Amino acid sequence: MKSVVAKLRCPKCGSTDIAEIIYQPVELTESLIEQIRTRRVVLRPAPAGAPRLKYYCYYCGYEW
Ligand SMILES: [Zn+2]
Repeated sequence: MKSVVAKLRCPKCGSTDIAEIIYQPVELTESLIEQIRTRRVVLRPAPAGAPRLKYYCYYCGYEW
């Protein structure tokens, strides 16, 4: 399964080292575990009331 983040760039620093943020609870499929292992996905607890940002930049820490 090809990750959607492969083509993304950070709007702030231009880095392509981007992960998709997935909020728990979520079913840990083999595909998802593989994407976490390869740093294409980060798991987060679901924020209460806060906006759910979709992407995270490993380089500068920016989230959008
Ligand atoms: Zn960045």
